Amino acid sequence: MGIYVIAEECTGCRECVQACPTGAIEVFEDIAVIGSACNLCGACVNICPFEAIKIEVERAGVKAEGYKGVWVVSEQREGRLMEVSLELLGEGRVLAEKLGVDLSAVLLGSGLDHLIGKLISAGADRVYLADDPGLKDYQGDTYTRVLVDLIEERKPEIVLIGATMIGRALAPRLAARLKTGLTADCTGLDVDQDGKLLQTRPALGGHIMATIICPDHRPQMATVRPKVFKKIDPDLTRQTSSVWQAGLVRQAGSARQAGSARQGEVIRLQPRIEEADIRTRILEVVKEMKGEINIAEADIIVSGGRGLGRAENFKIIEELAATLGGAVGASRAAVDAGWISSYHQVGQTGKTVAPKLYIACGISGAIQHLAGMQSSECIVAINRDASAPIFDVATYGIVGNLFEVVPLLTGELKEALK
Ligand SMILES: Cc1cc2nc3c(=O)[nH]c(=O)nc-3n(C[C@H](O)[C@H](O)[C@H](O)COP(=O)(O)OP(=O)(O)OC[C@H]3O[C@@H](n4cnc5c(N)ncnc54)[C@H](O)[C@@H]3O)c2cc1C
Repeated sequence: MGIYVIAEECTGCRECVQACPTGAIEVFEDIAVIGSACNLCGACVNICPFEAIKIEVERAGVKAEGYKGVWVVSEQREGRLMEVSLELLGEGRVLAEKLGVDLSAVLLGSGLDHLIGKLISAGADRVYLADDPGLKDYQGDTYTRVLVDLIEERKPEIVLIGATMIGRALAPRLAARLKTGLTADCTGLDVDQDGKLLQTRPALGGHIMATIICPDHRPQMATVRPKVFKKIDPDLTRQTSSVWQAGLVRQAGSARQAGSARQGEVIRLQPRIEEADIRTRILEVVKEMKGEINIAEADIIVSGGRGLGRAENFKIIEELAATLGGAVGASRAAVDAGWISSYHQVGQTGKTVAPKLYIACGISGAIQHLAGMQSSECIVAINRDASAPIFDVATYGIVGNLFEVVPLLTGELKEALK
């Protein structure tokens, strides 16, 4: 892909200079010159009144033949499935039904037979299981090798991965090896009439939603953060929805989850793990968060923002959270101020959460914060500014000074919960 200026057409009008968001264009002797800061966004091409700037795109030609099926790379840690993998199977199920293809879960690790039924119950028609002591803990080199081998052999058209710490490391490695595209942190997935994956995610600092396609390469790859999609209630599989019946009839498999009507196929893989591939060794796993509630999985979150004024004031947030048995969240402003660690940040560049109750204290409700919490079931906002945007998404709003309201609330709840 490259960009060039047709000197004979360019008049040096400077329209492109104004339009370039990276300041990559200068005009010398009435001809635009494009510098190395260019990110090929195409703004100059669109604005040029003389059609003097061109972007050449190398089209590889569609390499979609033979690619079929939706896959979810299912993440486990210490033999426990990450919730996001179940949520992705729920969404993957919808995509697979729309495309009329199977949904497969891919599971890597050691001693994982107990998870097979859970994956099928969560929507998978098939489980590819690479069970090997060498895969016990996530290891970039080996996991990439095993997955690349499998994807090249079986050719899924869509691969979905949870945007966890591990998923964020793994997905780009896979995409680079497979020479395909990857859309990170999608907030919506769908397929168009040609069966292409429509990957929607916030862009330009969260101000627009962009829908991205991967037209020429396969598989189409996307990561999705926890809590963006809902996992399937296993009981739904017993109902007579046509979608689920279709899933059931098509499969004659070898695994069944207790209490669930779904059946599926299990394919056990013989992973190729070569010593030469392993460049790092895990000596010890040290857990950063000890005894704290994981905000991505909490049912109740009490969050504090810049309105708290200083780090020590997070105490009142912690006290309310502890009274409710919830976790502590924060806006990026509070994190950037160094009042609390980034582990607690909710929002576009933090965690996406969807608790039953989200209490926002001294948080204005910037679009990037809302992106991470607005699907919470019940939102309570406490802010002294009645026009703060957080009230637009709040179920209950309390206009007042948080230093009065929060301790009052904590006191009342302590009494009520005695
Ligand atoms: C690319 C990008 C990504 C971003 N990602 C995130 C993200 O992941 N998460 C995130 O949160 N932000 C993110 N931001 C920052 C975001 O735009 C806002 O700047 C941030 O959310 C503001 O945090 P805040 O609401 O705590 O602070 P402010 O916007 O300053 O709001 C403070 C609020 O506290 C209220 N207040 C003050 N004192 C009191 C009091 N005593 N009692 C009651 N209310 C009081 C004020 O009325 C005000 O509404 C991102 C920005 C960009 C550009």
